[in-house]
Amino acid sequence: MSDVRTAELRASLTALRDRIARAADAAGRDPAELTLIAITKTFPAQDAARLADLSVTDFGENRAAEAADKAAELPQLRWHFVGQVQRNKARSIAGFADWVHSVDRVPLVTALQNAASQHGRSLDVLLQVSLADDTADGRGGVPPAGLEELAAATEAADALRLRGLMAVAPLGVDPAAAFARLAGIAADFTAKRPAADVLSAGMSADLEAAVRFGATHLRIGTALLGGRPAIVR
Ligand SMILES: *Cc1c(COP(=O)(O)O)cnc(C)c1O
Repeated sequence: MSDVRTAELRASLTALRDRIARAADAAGRDPAELTLIAITKTFPAQDAARLADLSVTDFGENRAAEAADKAAELPQLRWHFVGQVQRNKARSIAGFADWVHSVDRVPLVTALQNAASQHGRSLDVLLQVSLADDTADGRGGVPPAGLEELAAATEAADALRLRGLMAVAPLGVDPAAAFARLAGIAADFTAKRPAADVLSAGMSADLEAAVRFGATHLRIGTALLGGRPAIVR
């Protein structure tokens, strides 16, 4: 595809890769340790196809129906589900997602395990940790105190591979403070299970702080695809 939109995406991808490289450099890290996930929510599947042509390999979505449609159009891409999962959507999500970043309660582990088994698939999963003091923050996640119980349930689910943790910086909080706290939680977590060393953190506004505090997977929407309409849900 060679069109105006492709040229626009190529320019923002170049700028973003540059920004990620500078963040890695500032943190004394190798940019090769960082996986870029293009969050294509609200944008057409064609944009994901354009980015794939520009060598982006990983794509993320936060709404089940929209994600299912795009993944059906582009099944060759690697799809990450990063939004809050309603239990009745587990069956659909387990059918197309390679990764689920937002596992935050035991009943959801059970639902994903059953759904993935029915599809004959296995899913890479991350446990979403809430960094908000107020659990009514609305961004999902298990409070750190509930993490071990959730990890044990996930490890017992044979269609799920526990790969690590995910977090979203709470609104109105310094992201560096939030991600510093996350780094401590992740260190305890991986000390017990060294193979679960993925840390999904960092969005367009806070990727530098996330890279500084150990993120391995960056979930980037706006900085790559442009602004979204105000109403996303
Ligand atoms: C939308 C979204 C992102 C990307 O946010 P941007 O600020 O557009 O980069 C990352 N993670 C989750 C969970 C999202 O819902």
